Amino acid sequence: EKTIAVLTSGGDAPGMNAAIRAVVRTGIVKGFRVLGFMRGYNGLINGDYMEMNLRSVSDIIHRGGTMLYTARSPEFKTEEGIQKAIETCKENNIQGVVVVGGDGSFRGARDLSQRGINCIGIPGTIDNDIACSEYTIGFDTAVNTCMQAVDRIRDTAQSHDRCSVVEVMGNNTGHLALHSGIGCGATCILVPEVPYDLKKDVVGRILSYQGTGKKHFIIVVAEGTCNTNALAIQIQALTNIETRETVLGYIQRGGSPNAKDRVVASQMGFRAVELLAQNIGNRVIAMKDGKILDYDITEALGMQKPFEMDLYNMAHDISI
Ligand code: ATP
Repeated sequence: EKTIAVLTSGGDAPGMNAAIRAVVRTGIVKGFRVLGFMRGYNGLINGDYMEMNLRSVSDIIHRGGTMLYTARSPEFKTEEGIQKAIETCKENNIQGVVVVGGDGSFRGARDLSQRGINCIGIPGTIDNDIACSEYTIGFDTAVNTCMQAVDRIRDTAQSHDRCSVVEVMGNNTGHLALHSGIGCGATCILVPEVPYDLKKDVVGRILSYQGTGKKHFIIVVAEGTCNTNALAIQIQALTNIETRETVLGYIQRGGSPNAKDRVVASQMGFRAVELLAQNIGNRVIAMKDGKILDYDITEALGMQKPFEMDLYNMAHDISI
């Protein structure tokens, strides 16, 4: 029987379940037997899977996380690990695998494709850090989660005339910080892509805006930019404004996916199975100008994602 597999790998993101649902339902409608492998590539290595039917993916479209669980699998990076995964695919007559995850997961998908198992990658990460795609599943939900968390911090900052330094995720990129920072009206957004001068770009801004009557300040910092605790201490020392640090942490990864993430996940899952049905592998699904398309994995991994500098500059122009 023609069989395809689906798994989620790397960090979880809201919308992964909607992608699994689309893959399973599209696969079954196209006449495939569909297996859901547990805990990323570990499931392929250990033969740990669930037989999926139309109802296996009922009631998951609105849930965060991933029903198939996810993991980082160091064993899969070894030749022995990948051979075990290939064995599992052969034993189960698997012709294609859909992998929802990030760049690391796509490297694994490329390695499997090169050994004769067609794999399709779907970008699922809250970081929006996949170069070939302008959008990754989970990003919009995470932007809204961060924004709403900062809205609450703002109430406190405003009540106490404080400065708040808020660290958001991003895996060493500033996309999540930029979009959530604009959404919450941050005074200043600090990201790894743009060098900054503490005295001029942060303290100078706070002091000059203070002169126009602004009394509380929100500094959104992408993880990997600097030590946010040290930053808060320095800001307080240099401005005399009470400054507190909040690291948002894992609340950013969870929660029910919003409409955009459910729609994009559905589109990408559908497209992935269409490719497998045509016996095409070694591709990543991507979004470009709002449309769904696909790239060769090696080509996709070699791309660079530009940082939205215009948006970054605008953010600071209007936070005066
Ligand atoms: P995110 O960054 O959103 O957490 P990711 O997919 O980039 O997602 P990784 O931990 O980098 O997360 O990769 C997930 C899994 O993919 C790894 O545990 C491993 O099994 C596989 N993988 C990662 N890098 C490689 C590689 N270079 N070659 C083969 N497989 C890899």
